[in-house]
Amino acid sequence: MYEGIVQDLIDELGRLPGIGPKSAQRIAFHIVQTESFDVSRLAEILTEVRDKVRFCEICGNVAEQSTCAICRDPRRDPAVICVVEEAKDVVAIERTREFRGRYHVLGGAISPIDGIGPEELRIRQLMERLADGVVQEVIIATDPNLEGEATATYLSRMLTTIGIRITRLASGLPVGGDLEYADEVTLGRAFEGRRVVS
Ligand SMILES: [Zn+2]
Repeated sequence: MYEGIVQDLIDELGRLPGIGPKSAQRIAFHIVQTESFDVSRLAEILTEVRDKVRFCEICGNVAEQSTCAICRDPRRDPAVICVVEEAKDVVAIERTREFRGRYHVLGGAISPIDGIGPEELRIRQLMERLADGVVQEVIIATDPNLEGEATATYLSRMLTTIGIRITRLASGLPVGGDLEYADEVTLGRAFEGRRVVS
């Protein structure tokens, strides 16, 4: 334990995902010791990000306006929607340059242990988007783990009732992992080789 405010900083940093006690300590001392490190800039950005960043009204992706850049882009194919768990998955798929449609971010995956059911996800909003008949294909790109599979099964059952083409990313993605950690080539191939669910 360090005295007062240094320990406070370490504790706060340690609350961030993926930062253990050692990393928190290293970052804290970097901030304290490095004079060239622009603390006010970081503080400013943290405040700004909270104020400015919101979520797209259409797809749920991170946005700086009421809709995200992808939903506003007229070159993106409105007939294909790729359903992902989190906004970070959009970034991972965009990196592959394999997909030119639009997205729908669920905001998580079905996980009874964590008390997350279908109602907690943006599934209703997805069904609303499909109502006007523009969308011809829904690609389910949930994570290749237990929760992701449960979500995919639930979604394909829901979507089968409205009779559009439903596809699922091809296997080859590391099972049990996160979509965002799949390398671009693997993820790109999974897109090309997606299979029809119904
Ligand atoms: Zn959007």
